[in-house]
Amino acid sequence: MRFFLLALCAIAVSAETLEDRTQRYFIDLLRLNTSNAPGNETLVAQYIQAELRKEGIESELLGGDANRLNLVARLKGNGAKRPLLLMAHSDVVPVEPKLWTVPAFDAVQKDGFIYGRGAVDTKSLLAAEMAIFVELKQKKTPLNRDVILLSEADEEAGSTGIQWLIRNAWDKIDAEFCLNEAGARSLTPDKTEVFQIQTSEKVPTRVILVARGSAGHGSLPRKDNAVAHLSDAISKLTKAYMPVQFNTTTRRYFGEIAKLDEYKWLQPLLPKLEANANEIGDRDPELDAQMRTTVSPTMLRAGMKVNVIPNQAEAQLDVRRLPGETKEEVYERFRKLINDPAIEVLPEPGQDMPATEPSALTTELYKAIEETIKKQNSKAAVIPYMSRGATDGAFLRAKGMAVYGVPVFMRDDKPSRAHGNDERIRASTLRDGATLLQKIITAITQP
Ligand SMILES: [Zn+2]
Repeated sequence: MRFFLLALCAIAVSAETLEDRTQRYFIDLLRLNTSNAPGNETLVAQYIQAELRKEGIESELLGGDANRLNLVARLKGNGAKRPLLLMAHSDVVPVEPKLWTVPAFDAVQKDGFIYGRGAVDTKSLLAAEMAIFVELKQKKTPLNRDVILLSEADEEAGSTGIQWLIRNAWDKIDAEFCLNEAGARSLTPDKTEVFQIQTSEKVPTRVILVARGSAGHGSLPRKDNAVAHLSDAISKLTKAYMPVQFNTTTRRYFGEIAKLDEYKWLQPLLPKLEANANEIGDRDPELDAQMRTTVSPTMLRAGMKVNVIPNQAEAQLDVRRLPGETKEEVYERFRKLINDPAIEVLPEPGQDMPATEPSALTTELYKAIEETIKKQNSKAAVIPYMSRGATDGAFLRAKGMAVYGVPVFMRDDKPSRAHGNDERIRASTLRDGATLLQKIITAITQP
C-alpha cells in the first residue's frame, strides 16, 4: 500500500505543468521573508538549491555573508553560443503590516490574486525562471548555449550580491544576454496589450543641499536665514526645465507610444521632440522623466525650536540622472541654477550605480522577445523603455552584457503595487507569463 502511494506521488510530480510548478515555487518563495534589511536571502538560496537537487541539478550558494547568499546554477548547452543568464533578486522591500489587509508573507489567495511582498517585485519572475530552468533539464531540451539561473541578494538596498559575484565569480555568471526584472506588460483602455522591454535605466544620484547662515533669535529676521536660502534653492531646482536628452531607447519609445490611442496627441510633436519637450513633459510627468534628469526633494532638516534661527538647514534630493549625463555635470548645473554662495551642493555618500548605454535593440535576444510576443498577439505594442527605477542589471550592462527587463506578467494595478501595500499578482497572469517567458527562452536557446 505504501509503495503504491509513493508511486502515485511520483506520477503526480512528474506530470506537474510549467504553470503549476511556477505557482508552487511562487507561493513557497512568497512565504520566505526576505525583507531587506536584513535580507536573510540564504532562505531563498537554500530553497532553490533543494528544489533543483530534486531534479538532479547542482547549484552553488555564493557570497560574502552567510545569511545573504546568492544562488547560481547552470545547464550546459552545446557551446555554439555564449550563455543566457536568467536573473531575479531574492530580497524584497520591508512591509508596514498595519497598512496591509492580508498578512504579507502568507501568500493569501483572494479574488483571483495571490498576495504577498515580492508578488510583483520580483518573486514571480524568480519562480517562472526556476520552473523553466527545471523543465529544460527534465525534458533534456537541447540548448545552443548554457543557461544560467541566478538569484542574487540585496538588490533592494546595496546591490552587494551582484557586486560580490562580479568581483569574485564572474566566470560563473558571464553571459551574452541576461533576462531580468523591470519589464512591464499592461493593457490600454481600448485593450491593446503593451509590452515594455527595459533596456536602460536612470541612475539614482542622491544630492544633499546644505544652507549656512547666522543663528539668532527668531524675533530678529536676517537676510542670511539658512532655511529661507534652502527653500529658495529647492524652488529653483524644481521649477527649472532640466536639459533634454534622448538615447536609442527613449527615441524609439516616443515613436512607438505615439501609435497608441492614449498618446495620439504626441504625433504632431514627434518631428521636433527636443523643441516640444517642455510641452510634452508638462502634460505627462512619466514622459518628462524619460527625457531628462529629475529632482524630487524628499527630506528636510533644520532648527530645534520655533524661536531660534538655525545656522544650518539641509535638504535631501532624490535625483534620477539620465544615463548619458555624469554626476559632475548634474552637480555643476545645480550650482549654477541655485547661484547662491550660501548653498553647498554635495553628493550623498554611499554607493554609486553605474551609468550605461542602453542595451541594443538589434540583438538576437531583443528580436526574439519582440517576435515571440508578436506571434502570440500580432496587435500587441512592443516598446523598449528606460526605467526610472534602478536594478542590478546596470552592473551587468557596465560589464558589457546585454540586459533586458522582460515583460511577461500583466500589471493589473495602476500604479503597480511593487514596494506598496497589498502587493499582488493575478494568478492567471503568473501562469500565462511563465508560458510566454518559456517561449522567449526557447527561441533564444534552440540549436
Ligand atoms: Zn526588483
